[in-house]
Amino acid sequence: MALSEQQPAGGSLAAVRDALGDARQVAVLTGAGMSAESGIPTFRDALTGLWANFDPEALASIEGFRADPARVYRWYVERREGVRRAEPNAGHVALAAWARRHPGSMTVITQNVDDLHQRAGQPGVIRLHGDILADQWLEPCRHPAVPGRPCDPADADEGQPPKCARCANLARPAVVWFGEALPEAALARAERAARECQLMLVVGTSGAVWPAAGLALQARRAGARVVILNPADSEIDVVAHDLLRGTAARLLPLLLGGGVAC
Ligand code: NAD
Repeated sequence: MALSEQQPAGGSLAAVRDALGDARQVAVLTGAGMSAESGIPTFRDALTGLWANFDPEALASIEGFRADPARVYRWYVERREGVRRAEPNAGHVALAAWARRHPGSMTVITQNVDDLHQRAGQPGVIRLHGDILADQWLEPCRHPAVPGRPCDPADADEGQPPKCARCANLARPAVVWFGEALPEAALARAERAARECQLMLVVGTSGAVWPAAGLALQARRAGARVVILNPADSEIDVVAHDLLRGTAARLLPLLLGGGVAC
């Protein structure tokens, strides 16, 4: 089915609630808008988006990191502080509470690199784009005497990327940058969840980043009802059976029932 052959419908909360009641498996694909009401800026929203003030190629690519590791690392240190200060919002909490009431029936697939789904108590979250709070080594350890041995972090100066004490390798944030492949196992699990669900909720994503955006199309092709929750148009609206216009923290509790953070 070509994207252009599909007609987006409007959507009513009551109809989507009925579909939720009928679904054995629910997949939820989340993007930066999911965390916007927790105070974490999205990438593309014109007024507050991160890219409105920064050059994505310089700050979120391997080339940008190699050109100026300290600058890129400092930018991530600041973003990490924002993520640590943030709290899960009513949308994260409603998803986690629904999952607790229906064990084994919901799979959350997130493009977000924050940990707000996890802190709300969501089990088994599939992270497609990594974890902003973690580091990983740029290269395998290059010390010739110990092939295969992992790097050994030396003390790093404040705001500088940690270095390996033996080979001077640098640590970088454990996120997927532009031009990098998604973690294979996470993508395979996400594709399986998309194929096997009867209902997919797509929350707070512009649908501009692939292959994550393609999961909605995979779910629809496999027969699932696809519902987009977003206050604005997205690039994958044509894939949806239902478009619910509103924010994650408002719509998800209305749809799933509220909950308490665990
Ligand atoms: P995006 O910035 O491209 O799109 C954000 C979407 O969220 C837009 O469609 C916007 O209309 C919608 N939105 C804004 N406020 C909302 C709200 N309160 N409720 C629901 N929706 C709302 O983000 P994206 O589609 O996730 O793709 C860009 C990349 O950004 C992802 O790869 C992700 O890794 C990264 N990212 C992650 C975080 C995070 O971890 N919190 C933050 C910024 C960007």
